[in-house]
Amino acid sequence: MKRRTLYILLVFLMVFISGCTNPNDDISNLNDAKPIITTTLFPQYDFSKIIVGDKFDVVLLLPPGVEAHSFDLSPKDMTTILSSDIFIYTSLVMEPWVKNILESLEAEEILAIDLSTEIELKNFEYEDHDHDHENENENEHKHEESGYDPHYWTDPMNAIIMVDEILKAVISIDKENEQFYIENAQKLKSDLIKLDEDIRYVVENSESKTIISGGHFALGYFANRYGLEYISPYDGFSPNAEPSAQAIANIIKTVKDTNAKAIFYEELVDPKVSKTISDQTGVQMLELNAAHNVSKEQLEKNVHYIDIMYNNLENLKKGLGYNG
Ligand SMILES: [Zn+2]
Repeated sequence: MKRRTLYILLVFLMVFISGCTNPNDDISNLNDAKPIITTTLFPQYDFSKIIVGDKFDVVLLLPPGVEAHSFDLSPKDMTTILSSDIFIYTSLVMEPWVKNILESLEAEEILAIDLSTEIELKNFEYEDHDHDHENENENEHKHEESGYDPHYWTDPMNAIIMVDEILKAVISIDKENEQFYIENAQKLKSDLIKLDEDIRYVVENSESKTIISGGHFALGYFANRYGLEYISPYDGFSPNAEPSAQAIANIIKTVKDTNAKAIFYEELVDPKVSKTISDQTGVQMLELNAAHNVSKEQLEKNVHYIDIMYNNLENLKKGLGYNG
């Protein structure tokens, strides 16, 4: 423990000397008596909070409103992670920087949880769009290779697996309150099962089975779960590389050819691509939120993953022509 304190002090000093603000801003208000869970993305932040109630402090590394794919680990974040009891990330595909800190976490006896361990990662781009397939050894290091779609949390059935993994980690730190955590997780899982049934019903009773998005390829697992096709002009699973003019033109043609009712756009990114497609076709723009992160307003309103998914469902009703 002494080494850990020393390390934190060192990072603190480095940041302090370089003229930044107090790196402990986020954690200084937290009750020292409670164990701390630090999370990388919103879904596990939300699930962790629901499971632990007031018995842990839960921290989200991403500042509200920040687009998750452009996250860079700062010394302040490292201090936050090293102050935690449990560190929960989605995968090395989504958070490749975690690979560089795993040894430090182990040395400091911080429980690091890769939530993708029990989840089958998929590569929809290669599977569905006949790109050249270079990853023949699919089972080898699959959770570390890029090329796999990291957005598995958009499938509510995967969300249930995430809840179970978080529950196990929490109980391993605080066995005393095991029953409390199990009950909270159970309630959350039944809400997720209800969500799954509601989505299934809407999709079954909608005219179109195709989501046409102007955002990045973020809802592949969601689409796959409900038998929907998901079309995006982006190449790959991050919004950082701009789509080509040809890809946008293809989407515009698809919207026109299929008489689509809407173009979907993603959260927390300027929806300029969707706007272009909407301007060129006259169809409405509707948000389809992949829940990587939430805005400041959503965080203040205590919005949950499930709320975001129900909001998506309302937009899907409009965009896919629901007649149930
Ligand atoms: Zn994404």
